[in-house]
Amino acid sequence: MEPLLGIDLGTSYTVASVVEKGRARIIPNRQGERLTPSIYTQTAEGLPLVGTPAREQGFLNAKETISSIKRHMGSQKKINIGGKRFSPEAISSRILKKVKADAEHALDSPVSKAVITVPAYFHHGAREATRKAAEMAGFEVLRILSEPTAAALAYGLHRQEESRIVVWDLGGGTFDVSILTLSDDFFEVEAVCGDNRLGGDDWDQRLADSLIPSIESCFKRPAGPELKLHILQAAETVKKERSNKPVAPFVLTPPSSLSGAPHSFRRDIWRSDFDAITADLVERLIEPTRQALKDARLSVSHIDKVLLVGGSTRMPAVRKAAQAFFLKPPCLDINPDEVVAIGAAVQAGILTGQITEAVLVDVTPLSLGIASEGGLFTRIIPRNTTIPTYRRQIFTTAKNDQTNMDIHVLQGERDQAKDNREIGILELTGIPPLQRGQSLVEICFAIDADGIVKVTAQNLHTEEEISLTVSSNHHPSQEEIDEALEEAEQFAEKDLAARDQAEAITEAHNLIQSAENLLDQIECSEKKRLIRHLETYKKSVNWADGPTLREKSTALRAHLLACRPLNKAMSHETHTHHNAASKKSNPSPPKR
Ligand code: ADP
Ligand code: MG
Repeated sequence: MEPLLGIDLGTSYTVASVVEKGRARIIPNRQGERLTPSIYTQTAEGLPLVGTPAREQGFLNAKETISSIKRHMGSQKKINIGGKRFSPEAISSRILKKVKADAEHALDSPVSKAVITVPAYFHHGAREATRKAAEMAGFEVLRILSEPTAAALAYGLHRQEESRIVVWDLGGGTFDVSILTLSDDFFEVEAVCGDNRLGGDDWDQRLADSLIPSIESCFKRPAGPELKLHILQAAETVKKERSNKPVAPFVLTPPSSLSGAPHSFRRDIWRSDFDAITADLVERLIEPTRQALKDARLSVSHIDKVLLVGGSTRMPAVRKAAQAFFLKPPCLDINPDEVVAIGAAVQAGILTGQITEAVLVDVTPLSLGIASEGGLFTRIIPRNTTIPTYRRQIFTTAKNDQTNMDIHVLQGERDQAKDNREIGILELTGIPPLQRGQSLVEICFAIDADGIVKVTAQNLHTEEEISLTVSSNHHPSQEEIDEALEEAEQFAEKDLAARDQAEAITEAHNLIQSAENLLDQIECSEKKRLIRHLETYKKSVNWADGPTLREKSTALRAHLLACRPLNKAMSHETHTHHNAASKKSNPSPPKR
């Protein structure tokens, strides 16, 4: 039978899921991402680009890079790209075409039937435009479903007694509050309210604005439009990371077009500071909520369940605000940026009779990953990912001529490998003896519908493969999960410092490798100077703290660059991160 898709065609991200064996799961796109940025553009040659490639092209051609097209669905607006005029549904259909092609690739089957979600407040014209976009992309639309209803379906609430549900959906650029009532297995949207100019982008902008003056003085120039885009992107990254811990580093490497900018900018962002500069944004969630309750003639005490939807509800301050307002803990067991797509697939499953079981979705309770260079924990499957799931990443060797690799499989939320629980070891042998960072090993984590974890490591040179299966008996108890989360919170600051130190040391080893490669290729007097510099540098690796070591690395890097005119071969620094295994700096899918 042909697979059925559920698609959340979001303002900032589009997410697809599929019904398989009576359950819904997310389908990653061809780039391996679970969320596809809802961005469309064309190359200079007129080739269409969707998602992350389009976002990257946006740095070059911002004017013709279209994002947030959903805001215009159902309007007569026309968008000019490459001299042609596009309707909003034509742009949306390009995004959906990629979803379709990527799903067909991932599932190895033709795909044509889908349930597609829209905001509850979308009027008839906007719903019809969405249907048309899907048809233009080659889909048969099983149903156009409201997003809050999809979220309620994902949580299986249509099978429960509770009858009044509030959905808070804070995405990239919009905030929607919906109140649903359940009667006779049918959800009715009682009231909708929101703020279509409030979303995660505003939090990014706040953080960026607060950092721009310091960045300008670090890079010694005013921030132009391109640099501002890079700052915003780095702000989004740190915002996301910070949602899990009290402090996270904001790091900005000057873009290559900013030649001559001295070094990268780094600043630790504390939750308390971030929350202080965004407190008024959180407050703006309350008024539309009051209004929705008023429209539905309900008070907080009538609400049985609060669902948090949209990537931005991962922010602790938003969760706290929900709990404080509704006086009960909100539901957050399903990834908030995936829950709508999951619900859309559940709806497809219900419509076609493929979903009958009570449990609709399962999630991973704790993160899974491996021990990496410097004793760090590299997460491969983050907690709360819906299962079944499959992820892979490429790692490299950390030492020259390394022929064996012990891969420690870990579960937990701490940054240091030793603080997490080891659930198995894979021993990979027969790796060809190459320089540090040159041997490639692909590590795959797969979790099936029963929670059984299978880890596979494949030597990409010999194609030899080993695997390890961890049965579902290793599932942590609720107590263990709570303990792991509490510890991660408690030790976050210490963990961050240790991670910083470990990363600085890894960087130092890479630099030493580059310097040693260079020694044979420069003239004698240069060589002597470099050897002396390298010797003192190597000693400092043993005693310097993270920031001091980074300073010394900057000096050594400048020294290496100064040697450059005599030597064209000094082309790269190896990027390795792992002791047993090193993550490639760009964990792109393997090219085979
Ligand atoms: P939309 O429905 O608008 O398409 P999503 O629900 O996918 O979008 O939400 C996207 C927003 O969620 C972005 O602003 C993104 O930065 C934010 N986001 C994603 N993950 C996190 C996180 N861990 N912490 C904070 N914000 C996050
Ligand atoms: Mg959304």
